[in-house]
Amino acid sequence: MGIIEKMRLDGKKAFVTGGARGIGKSVATALAEAGADIAIVDMDMPEAEKTAKWMAGETGRDIFAIKCDVTSPEDVNAMTDAILARFGRIDVAFCNAGICINVPADEMTFEQWKKVIDVNLTGVFLTAQAAGKVMLKQGSGSIINTASMSAHIVNVPQPQCAYNASKAGVIQLTKSMAIEWAKKGVRVNSISPGYIGTELILAAPHLTALIEEWNKIAPMGRLGRPDELQAIVVYLAGDASSFTTGSDFVVDGAFTCF
Ligand code: NAD
Repeated sequence: MGIIEKMRLDGKKAFVTGGARGIGKSVATALAEAGADIAIVDMDMPEAEKTAKWMAGETGRDIFAIKCDVTSPEDVNAMTDAILARFGRIDVAFCNAGICINVPADEMTFEQWKKVIDVNLTGVFLTAQAAGKVMLKQGSGSIINTASMSAHIVNVPQPQCAYNASKAGVIQLTKSMAIEWAKKGVRVNSISPGYIGTELILAAPHLTALIEEWNKIAPMGRLGRPDELQAIVVYLAGDASSFTTGSDFVVDGAFTCF
């Protein structure tokens, strides 16, 4: 099989958490363009349904929305049941839903800390575990978790200790699952994006005010776009990456190089 053929995902069944918008929406579109059917998993059901309808029209794939809070084990179980009922299997999981709260460490409340860790770390654990259980039975599957460059550096000037800690946790969780499942046909990798122009930043005035400052130190002088993360996830999802597991892929325009 040639390399372009190996990059195709025809017949594969995938879910994308945080798929309603931003990085999740862009990556889900690419997975569908490569041939996969997709469950758009998100807390925001109206937006998830809108995205699923649009994506089905654009790609001609079977795309449907599932309402799920990734911090809830019950929701995650119901998500898996809904996907298996519709698709019969899960080949690709992009565990991507995440949030950021910018508060100094000495002012952060227990609730703020817990919220970020719950969504970004526990949410990835629950959804990757749910996918893993199905994939282990199948004897095959690829899980891709969204970490961040914030797993590697401490971003400045905005304070975000819980976010940084949660994303470092995602990388070690990814490596741990990768080792446990390496001989069982299930691969687990993570991506670590740099600043990407999504609503996570663009809808938060305290962050948009910092874009100019970040761009001054960014080697490429700009934010990344969600579509600039598509190819790495399509690669990790399919057979072209069959020897790739337990790795983290930094896609940040060299932001973390110095
Ligand atoms: P976004 O805010 O545009 O989209 C996040 C999506 O996740 C939303 O649709 C939201 O409804 C959903 N979501 C949030 N909490 C959820 C929950 N508990 N259960 C289910 N869905 C939930 O953000 P984005 O920029 O697309 O970020 C996606 C991922 O990429 C996050 O993990 C984020 O930390 C990571 N990331 C983003 C950047 C960036 O600069 N934008 C950089 C590095 C990493």
